[in-house]
Parts: sequence; C-alpha cells; structure tokens
Amino acid sequence: MENKNLLSDTITFLGTGGARIMVSTQILASGGLWLNLSGIEILIDPGPGCIVQSTKRKLRADKLSAIILSHRHLDHSADINIMAEAMTQGGFKHRGWLFTPADALENEPVIFSYLKSYLEGIEVLEEGKSYSIGNISFTTPIRHIHPVETYGMLFKTREHTLSYIADTRYFDGLLKSYGSELLIINVVFFEPKPAFDHLSVPDAKRIITELKPKVAILTHFGMPMWQARPWEIAQRLSQETGVRVISARDGMRFDLSQLDS
Ligand SMILES: [Zn+2]
Repeated sequence: MENKNLLSDTITFLGTGGARIMVSTQILASGGLWLNLSGIEILIDPGPGCIVQSTKRKLRADKLSAIILSHRHLDHSADINIMAEAMTQGGFKHRGWLFTPADALENEPVIFSYLKSYLEGIEVLEEGKSYSIGNISFTTPIRHIHPVETYGMLFKTREHTLSYIADTRYFDGLLKSYGSELLIINVVFFEPKPAFDHLSVPDAKRIITELKPKVAILTHFGMPMWQARPWEIAQRLSQETGVRVISARDGMRFDLSQLDS
C-alpha cells in the first residue's frame, strides 16, 4: 500500500477566480487545475499566479508531464511561460508536452519561441480528437462558443472519467460531449448575461441535470458569482438536481476516490 499516494487521483484547484476583475484583484486566486492521475501530473490553464500557488502547495512543475491550455485568454494562460520553464527545469531537461489550440501559437503567441525547444513537443488541440499522456487519455470533444478557439476536456483514467467544461456560452452540444463521473464547470456568471460567452448558474443547473455526474464542481467565479456565495449556490443546486454539487475553494484538493463512495 506504500504507493497509495502515487496512485490516488487528485485535482488541486490552484485558484477559483475567473474573468478580468476577479483575476486583477486576486480576491480569489487564479492559476488553474493541477491533476495527479495515477501518478501522471497535468496542469490545465496556468492563469496568473500559477507558479506562486503551485510552489506554495509543494506541487512540483518538474514532475509535470504536460500543460494543457483550454484557450489563450490571459486568465488561463498568463503563467504558461514560467510553468513551461519550470517543467523543463529552466530548460536543462528536455521534457514535457504542451497541448494548445492553434490560435494560441499564431500571431501574438502566448508562449515564447525559445521555450518551445525545451519541450518534448507541442500538440495542437482540435475538435473531436483524442490525445494521450502516459496511460491517461483525453479528448477535446467539441469546440466551445467563446471569442477565441476554446476546448474543454474529457479525461479517462483506469478508474474514472472526468470532464472540464472550460469557458463557453451554453449550447446543447455540451450535453452530448461531457458525460462523466466528475464534472468541473467554469461558472463565471451568477445570472445569465447573453452578451457574453460564459456560463451562468442556470446553465450549470441545466448541464448537471442533463448529464447527472456523480459529483459536479463549480469554479472560475466572476465577482457577482462570488458575492452570491458559491457554496450556498452549490448547496441549492445539490437539492434541486439530486447531484452532489461542490463549489471549489482556492487550494481545494479533490480526491477522485470520493466518486466511489
Ligand atoms: Zn476565456
């Protein structure tokens, strides 16, 4: 049993803030999700502060196998350069992969060109494709509706399935794409704001009701959402949907073994 720690699947929420005001003020931290799936460590969406939040929590970038960007917006990508440098031990170790939509590499790329040669490789995310990182596989089932090219991810480990619904406007394609045991949803808005391509609480409720995961975790909160107390919203959604809904907290570590109980 000494390898239990290595083999347990966890997700650490480096930050739970989303959108411009929240991220500029750092009332909630930003920094993305750190997955440890059967010992394979993967960083998703290294927003501003990722290097600070991860080192503070003793998460080691030189153990990462890959960094995945859902899209190029600053609150998801600001720390990509320092995290890529840290993953490669300052460029001294040729290692690690970057997965990113093509438009994050095109004019005004989010990653400095000198860092690319440190990496084992870069894979471009496309709709409907599958990728693997060690014995973990993931798909980017559908392109989201967001001002830049954006994908969520559906991961399969030996024991679990989990989805990350990154920034998007609500559309029915989400329901066909992200069926899984654990659903992580970026819920920027409390109330719907049709002028913006982000999910709100009623959207999250609809997605959770339709997809019926074992657990849903809300994160990436904008200011009004934070003021509306996401933990109370999560409690209400749990009652209304019959699904266990959790609001993420900065630094929260979710152990996927909770899905088995
Ligand atoms: Zn965005």
